[in-house]
Amino acid sequence: MRLEGIHHITAITADARSNVDFYARVLGLRLVKKTVNQDAPSVYHLFYADEQGSPGADITFFEFPGAVRGRAGAGMVHTVVWRVGSAEALDFWERRLAGEGVETARGARSLSFADPEGLGHELLVADVPDQPLIADHPEVPGELALQGFHAARAYAADPSASAALVAEHLGFAPVEDGDEAPGRIGASAVYEVRGERRGGLWIYDAPPAEPGREGAGTVHHIAWASEMDDHESWRERAIAGGARPTEVIDRFWFRSIYFREPSGVLFEIATLGPGFDADEDPAHLGEKLVLPPRFEPLRDQIEATLTPIENPRG
Ligand code: ZN
Repeated sequence: MRLEGIHHITAITADARSNVDFYARVLGLRLVKKTVNQDAPSVYHLFYADEQGSPGADITFFEFPGAVRGRAGAGMVHTVVWRVGSAEALDFWERRLAGEGVETARGARSLSFADPEGLGHELLVADVPDQPLIADHPEVPGELALQGFHAARAYAADPSASAALVAEHLGFAPVEDGDEAPGRIGASAVYEVRGERRGGLWIYDAPPAEPGREGAGTVHHIAWASEMDDHESWRERAIAGGARPTEVIDRFWFRSIYFREPSGVLFEIATLGPGFDADEDPAHLGEKLVLPPRFEPLRDQIEATLTPIENPRG
């Protein structure tokens, strides 16, 4: 039983409009689901991904309108690392982001930048066998597009506190010093989370002196991908590792459990299906507001409270 890499990463935005503009128009991802927070239906939950809405390329945002800017600190993910196919892709993104007024920093095989609310991103030329997960965008040629997640980097004061849970119970494979793994440099601890189909890295870095503060531009949680049939067993493994997972929650497009790992990061384990086409035509994902069935009678009220946003796909 192996986790199939990163399923999705969920962050917080104070401004759904500029969020859609940045992730769907500038970065060229597909808005695959426009829905509301299932625990607070007066605010958006937006999902961006590749063309198929695949786990492994899915970054999602809760909108908390007017939320103050947060800051990543110990126990929080600070950078989302995406794969790209070549140095030419880094050149393309360096130019495209500069054209949007986004500052970037170029490394040997990477390009770093932040979204409009300060969430850190890195594009990395990674040599992996995984299928590229690409969205169609009129201004982004497919060979230069983002290809899904490569890694997530979190701050941890003492990452050894997480070692038993992640390595012994969740099957994360430690990547030792000196191993050839992009992103390894400077990290305190690195794990590879690889299943039969996909993999990715989970990286702990030494935290800044200032404590973190959840808010706009920070990551709320990271979800790891489980085969449908393994989900309950992962819950038992998390318990055996000392975590206190929630019951299985049905999120319609996948099933989820949540628990905090010992360094403080909120983990979710989510199933690889049923998928975003469970309640929408795959050709029209993300075009209309999708509500969980129990909120459907409140559609008019809910739509009236949400900021109208425009999907660049129309
Ligand atoms: Zn989630």
